[in-house]
Amino acid sequence: MQSLNSLDSLTEAGQGCQSPPELTDFSPRDVYKDLLAKSITPQKTCGAWAIVSECESGEHHFGKRIFCGREWCEVCGEDNSASHKRRQARLLTRIQQVKQLGYFVIEWPDWARHIGEKGLHPDSDRGEGVAGWCYSKTELQDTTQAIIEVLAGRHGRRGRVGGYFTRGLGRWHWFGDKLPGKWNPHFNVLVDSAYLEKSQLEEIKVSLRTALNCPELIVHYSYFDKPGQMVQKVRYITRATFREYGWNPYMAEELFNFRNIRWWGSWKGAIAWELKEVEGEGEDVAGLEAVSSLQQGICPDCGRPLKAIRHNSGSGAPVVWSRPVDSVYLKLWDAREISGTGYYRIPGTKSRYRYIFSPEELLKLEGLEARARASPSVSPRIRQAQRSVNEFWERKRRAWDELDEMELSDG
Ligand SMILES: [Zn+2]
Ligand SMILES: [Zn+2]
Repeated sequence: MQSLNSLDSLTEAGQGCQSPPELTDFSPRDVYKDLLAKSITPQKTCGAWAIVSECESGEHHFGKRIFCGREWCEVCGEDNSASHKRRQARLLTRIQQVKQLGYFVIEWPDWARHIGEKGLHPDSDRGEGVAGWCYSKTELQDTTQAIIEVLAGRHGRRGRVGGYFTRGLGRWHWFGDKLPGKWNPHFNVLVDSAYLEKSQLEEIKVSLRTALNCPELIVHYSYFDKPGQMVQKVRYITRATFREYGWNPYMAEELFNFRNIRWWGSWKGAIAWELKEVEGEGEDVAGLEAVSSLQQGICPDCGRPLKAIRHNSGSGAPVVWSRPVDSVYLKLWDAREISGTGYYRIPGTKSRYRYIFSPEELLKLEGLEARARASPSVSPRIRQAQRSVNEFWERKRRAWDELDEMELSDG
């Protein structure tokens, strides 16, 4: 913590730039960042923080802005926002494995969309909430599960049993394009499939309607075989549709921490088409590939893993990104954004700066601190101080980890 404080004053003194205000005056009781991370309301400050990493070669440095990823955030909700692009990058490297892409849209008739809100039908539900499909977090989870069991099969002893498609993914849209603000939940599903015989498609529709006990369920199917179309579908289904919190505050609360994207099947196969094939459509292919690599913890420039700063005390997993610093550092380091994703390449920085820390120095300090924590000081006073600082950072880290998890599972 001390290092970060001195870092701020150095920045102020040396560069005359805006100093990161939150970091200078926090105390272990200051949970401002946690509140920011957890807050359900839109944050103008979204992206004001960044984390850094370096690969094992020590030659390549990367920055990553932290975004809340909420659909109604004025930063993250925009089409082609960094959050949107990150979701695209995650999906694209897998969708590249299919030669043809099937696309289902599963939609509820108007009358079915609002059933399930607690107390909405006080006479029949006694304030409890009657069984519905898509008007509470629990129901959405059950509905998602039921759809995937029809399309992918049920979990048996040896993998899935039954079903129609060996691999796929689904993601909810909450509102349609035509009537902004009108609750219209629909589940988009991409499957490794192509043309379906009419009889087979009918069978799938019947299975879905039966499994969900909704005879009027609306099911659309189409398929694509051109890489450009597939990329477009990925972009389309990963976009934000819940653009205003005020459209439905009740559901906004329900969807807090809802895992929106669901995958099934194996996605470790060979590539069926190159992203290069869609370059002509204005896609920064190299950028998205680099981001996808970073998302998997691999340096896109030399193929080596990102360097572990320390290991998570609980899971033992390597922690490869630093603590958050004010994203003004990205500017100071001349970091170059990759493909509008909020990921950055930070150019060779060794001893370039007199007054501010370089990414290497930040990471080194954090590594030293992790080691110091492992062998605590003997002075009780220092030990106590260290403990509260550590607790503070652990709490922060947990909040960030949670956020990151949400992004992993969707965002
Ligand atoms: Zn945001
Ligand atoms: Zn590297």
